[in-house]
Order: sequence, then structure tokens, then C-alpha cells
Amino acid sequence: MPKLIDLTGQRFGSWTVLYRDPEDYIPNTDNYQKHSQWVCRCDCGRVATVLGSNLRQGHSKGCVYCHNKKRAETWVKYHDAARRYMAEHPEQYA
Ligand SMILES: [Zn+2]
Repeated sequence: MPKLIDLTGQRFGSWTVLYRDPEDYIPNTDNYQKHSQWVCRCDCGRVATVLGSNLRQGHSKGCVYCHNKKRAETWVKYHDAARRYMAEHPEQYA
């Protein structure tokens, strides 16, 4: 069985790992470590569960709201629809 890498307290981009998500723990399989999920707090204060592999490989560097905000800033230059969407859903981009 592979040894679990404890990510508690580590930082990945905007994430700080709080603790392992006990619900998404798949013991006694070869993929056990791959599937480990971690409860993380973004710098913006939102909390989410993130796959450990996504954290370690740099695929997830912050919460979906921060990511969407960044993406939205790119969209808004080119797409009026995105601008309208942001105006209608300001809470997602605050
Ligand atoms: Zn965030």
C-alpha cells in the first residue's frame, strides 16, 4: 500500500490544506493515494475539497470562484455575453 503523503498545512497557490476529506478516502486499492481529497481554504476564504493529485501537480491553485473571476476578466474583453453574465451574477465575481 502506498504511503499517504500528508498535505495538511501545505500551500498550493491560493490553497491552504486544512485536513483530509474523510468521505473521499478509498482504502485498500492501488489508487488510494491518487484519490485522496483534501479540504482546502482559498485565500479568499472559500473552502472546497480538492484532489490531492491536482494540488501536487499544480492543476488546482485556488477556488473555482477565483478561477472564474480570472477567466471572466479575459472573456469580458471579447464577449459582451460574459459581461452581461457578470452583471447578472455579481456575487460570483465579487
Ligand atoms: Zn478563492
